[in-house]
Amino acid sequence: EQRALQRLRSAPSRTVDGVEINLHANAESREDVAEAFRLGAAGVGLYRTEFLFLQRRELPTEDEQFAAYRDLVLGMNGRPVTLRTLDLGADKADASGVSLAREPNPALGLRGVRLSLARPALFRTQMRAMLRASGYGFVRILVPMVTCREEMLQVRALAVDCARDLRTEGFEIADHLDIGAMIEVPAAALALPTMIDTMDFVSIGTNDLVQYLLAADRGNDAVADIASPLHPAVLRVLHDVIATGRRCGKPVAVCGELAGDIRYTRVLLALGLTDFSMHPGTMLEVRNAVRGCEHAALRKRSAALLRARDRDAILAVLARLD
Ligand code: PEP
Ligand code: MG
Repeated sequence: EQRALQRLRSAPSRTVDGVEINLHANAESREDVAEAFRLGAAGVGLYRTEFLFLQRRELPTEDEQFAAYRDLVLGMNGRPVTLRTLDLGADKADASGVSLAREPNPALGLRGVRLSLARPALFRTQMRAMLRASGYGFVRILVPMVTCREEMLQVRALAVDCARDLRTEGFEIADHLDIGAMIEVPAAALALPTMIDTMDFVSIGTNDLVQYLLAADRGNDAVADIASPLHPAVLRVLHDVIATGRRCGKPVAVCGELAGDIRYTRVLLALGLTDFSMHPGTMLEVRNAVRGCEHAALRKRSAALLRARDRDAILAVLARLD
């Protein structure tokens, strides 16, 4: 079985009926990037920059961040690399370079873009480093924990400002750079039509989106069962976000664990998803699953999936395809 999967390294991620599905990698290290490239990943769909800030006392400098981002971009050889701006919060106490106040409820606190906007110097340093890396390949910037359009507008204004400074200083950076939002706060998912004009693309963070929709802590085993994505509310929100993206001509990806879990590949295809981003370790399995699917037949089940009233009913809709 492993050997059969290995043969898919250079195979297309295409359904039985010829629909191309883009499989991107969530890459955390240089090794992940090398592996993603070898696996034929369409790009890096999520690079979590927090790792540069953890387990150290000082903040990473602009040059240090730039070097890390540039290496990623070079490693992907022209394929897009999606750099996510800092998603730190009070739950990551070992990022001692960023002084974080203790919070009773870190998941609902000053995290992601909220923290970045509250620390302009830190955010500017990161933005400059990302923009400088854009001179070396295809960079996209992804903003975590977006809740309202004002946040995106502020991030975009900062990017414009930093780009102007960098050009004045003589750096060569990309003429244009896409800035997208993680859709992981339910408010942003539900009100997406009111704010998608501030986003060049969106990436659904199902780890947090499911946690917040179902009010079930993603790290708490006692509620792991409740946190199942096979809840009618989750399918409805995923469907609506994907449909809004399509209607507005903005690419939509899923970059949470769901995207790399073959138990959910068919559900996501049925809901209209064409861009997945996952840990490289799961990419061949997902590619194999995609290659076994008939896209048109799955898409026809979308309405039935959305009508299903519980997990068993959702599973029954999928089972009828076999
Ligand atoms: C998510 O929330 O689904 C996600 C991809 O981001 P993280 O797991 O880093 O919160
Ligand atoms: Mg998240």
